Amino acid sequence: MRSLLKPRQTHASIFDIDLRSYWDRGYQNIIIDVDNTITAWNHYKITPKLKEWISKAKDTGFHICLLSNSSQSKIRAFALELGVTYSPIGGKPFARGFYCALTELGATVQDTLVIGDQIFTDILGGNRAGMFTILVDPIDKREFIGTRLTRLMERLVAGRRPVCKSLQQPR
Ligand SMILES: [Mg+2]
Repeated sequence: MRSLLKPRQTHASIFDIDLRSYWDRGYQNIIIDVDNTITAWNHYKITPKLKEWISKAKDTGFHICLLSNSSQSKIRAFALELGVTYSPIGGKPFARGFYCALTELGATVQDTLVIGDQIFTDILGGNRAGMFTILVDPIDKREFIGTRLTRLMERLVAGRRPVCKSLQQPR
């Protein structure tokens, strides 16, 4: 169980992920969480930096699918605005949403990265589905009350430090 809670890689943010190196290793698709991974919690705003990251990922060749447990109508609207696909089913960490995202992408578990800020949803689900998982620090400290409890569990069970930034080399 513990290994299912372990991300294959950690980064301070999506902006620290070297997409080209993953592309060169054969990854072509990204399943990505929304709240606190690419936007602040419940704040569906496209910053110029995010827009640039999405463009760069697409230019590299990646196909991107949003996978979120939030309101699917919000996620759909956000995906349209970003110009990416989305899974109409959330339900992380259960596998159904992940497989639905794979179908949307026309992808396989072998060529897909899963990126998210939560161990018990994004990482656990992605690992169970057999994909390469990347954990990022949450963008914002403000979170859904249930998520705050989950953070405590992450620290207790998975030994997660409050922020991954402390693990990064100074830039
Ligand atoms: Mg999240």
